[in-house]
Amino acid sequence: MSKSITIIGAGPGGYETAAAAAEKGFDVTLITDGPLGGTCLNEGCIPTKCLCRNAEVLEDFAHSEEYGITASYSFDFKKAVERKEAVISQLRSGIEFLLKKVRIIEGKASFKDSHTVLVGEEEIESDYIIIATGSVSALLPIPGNDLEGVITSKELLSIDVIPRKLCIIGAGVIGLEFASIFNSFGSEVTVLEYCPNVLPRFDIDLAKRLKQSLSKKGISIITSAKVESIEHSPGGLEVKYQFKDNRFSILSDKVLMAVGRRPNLKSLNFDEIGIETTPKGVVVNNYMQTSVPNIYAIGDITGGMMLAHVATFQGRRVLNHLTAGCPSEGPVDKIQLDLVPAAVFTSPEVATIGKTEEECKAEGVAFKIRKSFYRANGKALSMNSPDGYCKIIEEEKSGRILGCHIIGSHASDLIQEVTALISMDGNIYDLSSIIHAHPTLSEIVLNAAD
Ligand code: NAD
Repeated sequence: MSKSITIIGAGPGGYETAAAAAEKGFDVTLITDGPLGGTCLNEGCIPTKCLCRNAEVLEDFAHSEEYGITASYSFDFKKAVERKEAVISQLRSGIEFLLKKVRIIEGKASFKDSHTVLVGEEEIESDYIIIATGSVSALLPIPGNDLEGVITSKELLSIDVIPRKLCIIGAGVIGLEFASIFNSFGSEVTVLEYCPNVLPRFDIDLAKRLKQSLSKKGISIITSAKVESIEHSPGGLEVKYQFKDNRFSILSDKVLMAVGRRPNLKSLNFDEIGIETTPKGVVVNNYMQTSVPNIYAIGDITGGMMLAHVATFQGRRVLNHLTAGCPSEGPVDKIQLDLVPAAVFTSPEVATIGKTEEECKAEGVAFKIRKSFYRANGKALSMNSPDGYCKIIEEEKSGRILGCHIIGSHASDLIQEVTALISMDGNIYDLSSIIHAHPTLSEIVLNAAD
């Protein structure tokens, strides 16, 4: 008889693992208390990317005269929202099709014991359980964080009127993507960031360049700013912050809280069955097993890099562990869960893989930097996208590629080539030996190696 798996949570971690497990012959039950696709599809990556595309088209219109095109245009935000909903619904149908061999139960799950999950009156027994219940937006613990108009990315994605003034707290990935989108939509955007740089965990050089580009577009980004409170005032929401020992405030129609996400530790009764957690998330080993060995956890609930593709590959690790007979040591696949590309869909885009310059310095690694610029690339100029660069960090003595950081058009696509090379322990000479098609943006990566 086939082994059974119950998966709790239907985001990219949960539903992709469910579909793959069913294909492998497991008897799979997927439990979800929200729509299929989770945060990524319904209130994260996908809707944001739809709005990013709107922003891109608007930017093209704004620069149309540079192409010899005189256009009069208007922007119907309602239509943009409808397009986003249509994309989500098309993708959701695709997921339903993928899950045709999976039993889906709608409702809130809780553990009865280490092999039994309850949903209402129903008891679901299985050999293995995979927890994929994701994360929730964090809120700054300051007075006024619950006022009307103080929202998270989830609510900002479902507004129907573009705010005239938008204040964003946090210049991380979410903060900057929305700053970029709503700047293109015509909002007056101010971003307040606690750290001295935007995108604190990214290569500093790259982060500074992004700040410069976004500032040039009219986004006001104030770093080293400590937000203290939010109040209602006659002019709107007043966000009060401290900057260099002085107190300032700004007025806005909406305030977006984008100060991180935290694992959804309230999603299940972990303690009752002895699953170890810390405030950072559910504790797992290299096979994604929790402290209860037949129960696995994947994705944002485990803390770490809260990215859809991380959840997906952690799910693949679980299935590889199960099909390998659950060994307690040794590799079960070639997936490198510590080598994760990341992209920020601002305009210009940013993408990163491997070590930053600061990490290399901290580890005492002797390294060299190679850079090439979009402005010297034929395709980039023909696309009217001269802004950006590709920076490759190589180990000085071997030429081994340690990291790559790209800012500019399609950075998120370009990073994948370097990701493949790093994952195969490639070096700069391998990269410069690969023929790249001309004229393409990929030559920017090649030129950095040359
Ligand atoms: P984040 O951790 O990327 O950024 C949060 C930012 O808020 C940081 O810059 C932090 O310094 C700042 N901050 C914290 N406290 C503050 C304060 N008191 N005042 C001002 N600033 C403060 O988190 P996020 O942007 O909310 O994103 C959450 C998660 O979702 C991340 O893990 C992110 O990677 C993921 N995500 C990824 C993508 C993508 O891959 N394109 C898109 C959206 C979200």
